[in-house]
Amino acid sequence: MPAYDPSNIFARILRGEIPNDTVLETPHTLAFRDIRPQAPVHVLVIPKGAYVSYDDFAANAPDAEIVDFHRAVARVTRDLGVDLDQGQGFRAITNAGEHGVQEVPHFHLHILGGRSMGRMVQ
Ligand code: C5P
Repeated sequence: MPAYDPSNIFARILRGEIPNDTVLETPHTLAFRDIRPQAPVHVLVIPKGAYVSYDDFAANAPDAEIVDFHRAVARVTRDLGVDLDQGQGFRAITNAGEHGVQEVPHFHLHILGGRSMGRMVQ
């Protein structure tokens, strides 16, 4: 696992050095709108802790942070109306490392919805 780089842009957002369009904040998690939205709903959900990627987070975060993160994902889908009770669904993806073409080396989950996202494999 590469060392966590505390100068990455999401670390700077978490420190309040860069503004963001927050949709939800919980004790261990922040969710904000992507600045280059790929769908009508495009939110990034990030843990406040310093984790490089999903595998880093899943392996190393304390249980309380993992539960908080996933409950926050559910709240975001409900609050933005893309959950399966009131909406038409969403896509959740995370990019990790070079083959995943990860741009920001702080774990984040993309929540995309508001339109059909199409098939992943054509
Ligand atoms: O490829 P990766 O999943 O790392 O993509 C990072 C995402 O972070 C991009 O969708 C980009 O638009 C977003 N971003 C952002 N705010 C920033 C910098 C990047 O929402 N200040």
